[in-house]
Amino acid sequence: MQHRDLLSRLGLELPADGAGLSVRSPIDGAALGVAPVTPAAEIPEVAARAQRAFEAWRSVPAPRRGELVRLLGEELRDAKEDLGRLVTLEMGKIVQEGLGEVQEMIDICDFAVGLSRQLYGLTIASERPGHAMRETWHPMGPCAVISAFNFPVAVWAWNAALALVCGDPVIWKPSEKTPLTALACQRIFERAVARFGDAPADLLQVVNGGRDVGEALVASPLVPIVSATGSTRMGREVALKVAERFARPILELGGNNAMIVAPSADLDMAVRAIVFSAVGTCGQRCTTLRRLIVHKDVRDTLLPRLKAAYASVPIGNPLESGVLVGPLNDKGAYEGMQRALEQAKADGGVMTGGGRALAERYPDAWYVQPAIVEMPGQTDIVRHETFAPILYVLTYETLEEAIALQNAVPQGLSSCIFTTDIREAESFLSASGSDCGIANVNIGPSGAEIGGAFGGEKETGGGRESGSDAWKGYMRRQTATVNYSRSLPLAQGIKFEI
Ligand code: NAD
Repeated sequence: MQHRDLLSRLGLELPADGAGLSVRSPIDGAALGVAPVTPAAEIPEVAARAQRAFEAWRSVPAPRRGELVRLLGEELRDAKEDLGRLVTLEMGKIVQEGLGEVQEMIDICDFAVGLSRQLYGLTIASERPGHAMRETWHPMGPCAVISAFNFPVAVWAWNAALALVCGDPVIWKPSEKTPLTALACQRIFERAVARFGDAPADLLQVVNGGRDVGEALVASPLVPIVSATGSTRMGREVALKVAERFARPILELGGNNAMIVAPSADLDMAVRAIVFSAVGTCGQRCTTLRRLIVHKDVRDTLLPRLKAAYASVPIGNPLESGVLVGPLNDKGAYEGMQRALEQAKADGGVMTGGGRALAERYPDAWYVQPAIVEMPGQTDIVRHETFAPILYVLTYETLEEAIALQNAVPQGLSSCIFTTDIREAESFLSASGSDCGIANVNIGPSGAEIGGAFGGEKETGGGRESGSDAWKGYMRRQTATVNYSRSLPLAQGIKFEI
């Protein structure tokens, strides 16, 4: 009953059954409602509406476009508590993290508002007399956002806030596991649009549905930007289709993030960082810490402390205060975790934790004891991203060996080192150090701020979102040369007299 009040405060009155996506809370398996679906066959119409919105929105001055995003930020501030709780209810992360996700949305709106007055181009020296050369950034067209279940709202905001100030309408295909938070965001956005006054219709369209809806969007010739967040399997399929029609991909895919703990590390800090980044969100962040590469001289001090910290981490209903680890998203995630643990054991891994928790209290939900697995080496299963709280522990002797281990996986999202030795820290950040998109010193791999560009290399997909100059991914670059002289000199001194 309580969740009905929450949904209704967020403007969602959903049927309890019927056709559509039927949503269950990972907290206890309770039915939350049925979300309407947009059939894949309707995507061409959706894209045509977005194109019409684009034709109007691209001519609205960018600072005015920023005003809409400012209003969106205000509406998100008002809805923060309710939306954060809905994230918890639908996805299963603890309320603190649900609220954190909404705060991230507010932060990116603030960032994008400033950006709307700073979509800078360049003036470039021309080699020809009486000529001016410049580079300008123009809106690009409708932007598809395909998002994963684990950050059901923030990923949309990272993309949408930038796309909207850059002049691009957004078509959002949320995860089929989290359609309700997406509908709630749509309502919040509609309130911002109503206050804005004269925005074109269809600046944001939410298309709920399964993979087929995502595929139809990716294939649409009216969608020049496809920002897709999810598994590497999905990214591989999307990348090929997007490349086929020369559209622009922004891919944010799987990670396999490591921490190197050096002999000089502050172990108090390291233990806290490891626990937050390895068990937080029940191991279901793309930046979750999955591999701990510990120097042989500190291993025997660090591991007992880590195991003690793991043993005291409160696991339970993520809506209850004090709980730090909620459930896995579904049975499939639990089974995937158990399969990975069996393989690790067969490879010689020594296990602490990893079993099912709270099965009696929540027979229809999938809580687990986070696992620590001490491995004899970096076997295939360690190189694979299992989306669950499994921390593989490896040992090293030289920093070169540690960096080589850290880089010897197919993914390249986030990485970190705990050290108080400046030589080690700088080596880790150098050209021959970490090969990841994110590299931290004395901070865990998860919990990025929106001011920096977010994304990773290799099988993580190479995309960048959020801060720095990630906005350029949502605009087209134009080089313009103006001749204000009375002659027509050619570049490179070419003579072509007629
Ligand atoms: P998923 O790949 O199963 O689904 C992600 C989205 O892609 C969903 O909306 C799904 O419907 C859609 N989709 C799936 N196949 C598609 C296709 N062929 N064409 C178009 N759309 C398709 O991922 P998930 O289980 O929801 O999320 C977990 C994964 O996401 C993990 O691998 C995690 O590391 C990754 N992730 C990455 C980032 C990042 O920023 N790098 C952030 C969050 C999650």
